[in-house]
Amino acid sequence: MPAPTVLVTGASSGIGAATARLLLERGWRVFAAARRLEAMEPLAALGAEVMALDVSDDQSRRELAEQLTAKVGALDALVNNAGYGEVGPLETLPLERARALFDVNVFGLMGLTQQLLPAMRERGSGRIVNLSSIAGRWVSPGSGWYGASKFAVEALSDALRLELKAFGVSVVVVEPGVIATDFAHVVSPSMEQSLSCSVYSSMMRAVRKSWDSVYRGASPPLEVARTIERALTDPTPSARYLCGHQSASVIASQLLPTQLWDKIVRIQMT
Ligand code: NDP
Repeated sequence: MPAPTVLVTGASSGIGAATARLLLERGWRVFAAARRLEAMEPLAALGAEVMALDVSDDQSRRELAEQLTAKVGALDALVNNAGYGEVGPLETLPLERARALFDVNVFGLMGLTQQLLPAMRERGSGRIVNLSSIAGRWVSPGSGWYGASKFAVEALSDALRLELKAFGVSVVVVEPGVIATDFAHVVSPSMEQSLSCSVYSSMMRAVRKSWDSVYRGASPPLEVARTIERALTDPTPSARYLCGHQSASVIASQLLPTQLWDKIVRIQMT
């Protein structure tokens, strides 16, 4: 039996790198994609086939899909992990930054899926794992656009799961909590910038304090990688898999009345 094939996007760091490594150990043929090729050299040394991808760029997505089709035809699995965060009050966060965020987290994810799905559908099998977040289930102050991008991932994944059921392709969402990766470092310039806005500076200081506090308990990316492996291999996968520090907050946010939940969030973040 040939090794099952998987493309992991955002494999140059954090969750994507840990996932690619774990899947290589488990015997998968792993295609690892991101913009920073040099950061994926350790994965290449372990046997990953490293590929350049800017997921927000149509041409880059198309070239990657052509190369993959030439190599393997249809993939067995696609892990749509590439993504990043933006922080800032909704009143002031420039829309071009929100659009750039959606170009990666939403349109990039769906654009790549559109390129790779036809081969899976025609073969009648495949699995797509989309990285959402606890921010795809409840949103906190200062994270409105990031949350909106992950709510969009949730909605698109629900629709895709229903549309593809008849074709043998399953769609799964993984929802990490707070994970120790470069994510907070990548967010930090927008966090710093948001502190300079006088109207919201006190709220954003509270947001930063809360982030600093929760990230001290962050789970290792391997915990998410193990969950992604489960999502890829469960014979009858769930629609959603929660994992990592603070992920139980999703259950609490659903059980508590909105006014009470708002109060809990506001105490910590305003
Ligand atoms: P990292 O910053 O460590 O990794 C992000 C990865 O995404 C990098 O490999 C980066 O590669 C890639 N990426 C970003 N922009 C692009 C782009 N335009 N094209 C291709 N790749 C891109 O963060 P995480 O590992 O934490 O993030 C992975 C996913 O997990 C994201 O979708 C994030 O939203 C989600 N998540 C993270 C949580 C956390 O607490 N860390 C919690 C919940 C969800 P490169 O720069 O080389 O292109």
